[in-house]
Amino acid sequence: MSVSHCMGRALKIARLPVGRWADEIAKLPEACEHADCGAPRSCRQRIRAYLDIQRGILRDRPAPARGRR
Ligand SMILES: [Zn+2]
Repeated sequence: MSVSHCMGRALKIARLPVGRWADEIAKLPEACEHADCGAPRSCRQRIRAYLDIQRGILRDRPAPARGRR
């Protein structure tokens, strides 16, 4: 299973602090320019759905020890 352009972006955002996700999602194009995007062809819609799942996983886990502040 190959990772499409959109999922690449999703994975990048997933590595950022959760607080920045909304900002990054808002910057995504509504309609994807890549043919391999799949259907529905909307990066923002797909990535938001993916990150919603990730957020749920993170919430279930105890936060790792808070480092810098
Ligand atoms: Zn896309």
